[in-house]
Amino acid sequence: MVKKLPKTDVVVVGVGWGGGIIAAELTKQGLNVVGLERGQERHTEDYYMVHDELRYAVRYELMQDLSKETLTFRSNSKMRALPMRQYGSFLMGTGLGGAGIHWNGQTFRFLPYDFNIRSATIERYGKNKIPADMTIQDWGITYDEIEPYYDKFEKMAGISGEENPLGGKRSSAYPTKPMKHSPPMKMFKKATEKLNYHPYTIPSANLSESYENPDGIARAACQYCGYCERFGCEYGAKADPVVTVIPVAAKTGKFDLRTHSWVRRVLHNGEKATGVLYTDVTTGEEIEQPADVVVLTSYVFNNARLLLNSKIGQPYDPSTGEGVIGKNYAYQVVKGGATGYFDDQKFNNFAGAGALGMVIDDFNGDNFDHSNLDFIHGGYLSLTQTGLRPIQNNPIPSDSPTWGKEFKKNSLNYINKTLSIGAMGASLPYKQHYLDLDPTYTDTFGDPIIRMTYDFKEQDRQLAKFTAKKSSEIMKEMGASKVDSMKELGPYNITTYQSTHNTGGVIMGADSKTSAVNNYLQMWDMDNLFVVGASAFPHNGGYNPTDTVGALAYRAAEGIIKYSKNGEKLA
Ligand SMILES: Cc1cc2nc3c(=O)[nH]c(=O)nc-3n(C[C@H](O)[C@H](O)[C@H](O)COP(=O)(O)OP(=O)(O)OC[C@H]3O[C@@H](n4cnc5c(N)ncnc54)[C@H](O)[C@@H]3O)c2cc1C
Ligand code: SF4
Repeated sequence: MVKKLPKTDVVVVGVGWGGGIIAAELTKQGLNVVGLERGQERHTEDYYMVHDELRYAVRYELMQDLSKETLTFRSNSKMRALPMRQYGSFLMGTGLGGAGIHWNGQTFRFLPYDFNIRSATIERYGKNKIPADMTIQDWGITYDEIEPYYDKFEKMAGISGEENPLGGKRSSAYPTKPMKHSPPMKMFKKATEKLNYHPYTIPSANLSESYENPDGIARAACQYCGYCERFGCEYGAKADPVVTVIPVAAKTGKFDLRTHSWVRRVLHNGEKATGVLYTDVTTGEEIEQPADVVVLTSYVFNNARLLLNSKIGQPYDPSTGEGVIGKNYAYQVVKGGATGYFDDQKFNNFAGAGALGMVIDDFNGDNFDHSNLDFIHGGYLSLTQTGLRPIQNNPIPSDSPTWGKEFKKNSLNYINKTLSIGAMGASLPYKQHYLDLDPTYTDTFGDPIIRMTYDFKEQDRQLAKFTAKKSSEIMKEMGASKVDSMKELGPYNITTYQSTHNTGGVIMGADSKTSAVNNYLQMWDMDNLFVVGASAFPHNGGYNPTDTVGALAYRAAEGIIKYSKNGEKLA
């Protein structure tokens, strides 16, 4: 029998960056918030003295347990999708703080072009530049409208950075100075300046100096320990939800956090959400939590899955292009980088920080002319020094044997003599790429899991080729003796790590026919249900997503507060 609890003002499903920001902002305004998180509680103390690559980076201690819940994947809708049983292409987080615990902290704003991509592309190049099956659309919010929310997220997290010379206008400087420059970063800066590009230091959620944020949360500076991506920070120097927004919510006395609480349905009476149904995974008990407002902050895949399993909104149909839930799934095009091998220089790549690096945006968004190119948008090119670790790093040139004496010789020779330039290519949505419920496979409770239908397109192939060429040119300018780069982007492969930057499925927009939520991330179909996260991105930009996820969460929090007072549709 389902246990029914007393009603709360707001229930938040998933407590990562999205859930943490919503909880902090709403409780500060006096609303009672219940936070339901399927994973365990996490604390900074958990990471004291545990720089354990095997446990965290190889065995994925902080990630979702794929034996209980995963997704299925296929390249096109004629194929049967199969479950992702091992981690590869992306790493979903679980537990308090979500993937915000083990992220790198590279904190980029999207470009003004991203928010009005369709109209800006048509205006500059004409309608024919957009392939018939590419479903890009304007976001229903402009860069100038979202800018104050970016500013809020960056001040809360204490982002360390310097102005992007080719980015959108900022209302204020980054709250802390840029990170230090390592020798490889200096080489990248010199080479890109020589090529007349515009390098700047990557905006970082690893603090360059100690900092107290507007909520009175004080944190220490980064130690450049190199155990950042895939790890929690033992110093609290990396901004994560556990050291920033969650304590703010807890301090109000209005936040009721329940871990091990796995939400399975959004309950509703057709027009309004009435609460959620969840299972306490420690006892197996089924519990109903009624609420005036329901907020989904359970990441891209689960935001879409919960709506589909709860029968809310019209599922997307790729044959007609109608329906919105699951629409515009997009990923990222990261293979167009270059690796350089230096015969006469050595680097200490084992020191570093998750967001340490230099970057250029000269080939991102519409910062360059695409008239004679077979793609639109682009991506940033960066030299990062995130900290290599001994088990997973063994760079050798592509013409080296991969076993035997010569392999051993090259491994020893190149371990400290290799640098990489990465490309973070934008991913644009297509009619054929989407999320829906898998008809065959279920999770540990018997609920259908999400099915992902996705592959690279000609746009992605051209973009990756272009960025690979530019990355190689920069690497040569940096003085590499030998440069490897991608020749052709093959089909999308879910088994090798690329980025955990999935987007779409519950997209925002100005029109309820083509989007699921308005620009406060309020469902068009159910005004007391808000769906927050990168699921709202109509396409994926040439950057990491979390600054934009955070900005949209602040915007949604403002909308929920307004809605709680007036009970009206916000757009
Ligand atoms: C290795 C790695 C490096 C990254 N580096 C960067 C970077 O440098 N820059 C950047 O911008 N981004 C980066 N990211 C991406 C970044 O981590 C995410 O964009 C961000 O954490 C998303 O926040 P979120 O709150 O939307 O989702 P999440 O952090 O995924 O939080 C969702 C939460 O919901 C919970 N949940 C899910 N389903 C349920 C359910 N049914 N019931 C209850 N709870 C549920 C999950 O357990 C989780 O805690 C990185 C990601 C990874 C994995
Ligand atoms: S590199 Fe810096 S921010 Fe990252 S885990 Fe180490 S000390 Fe923390």
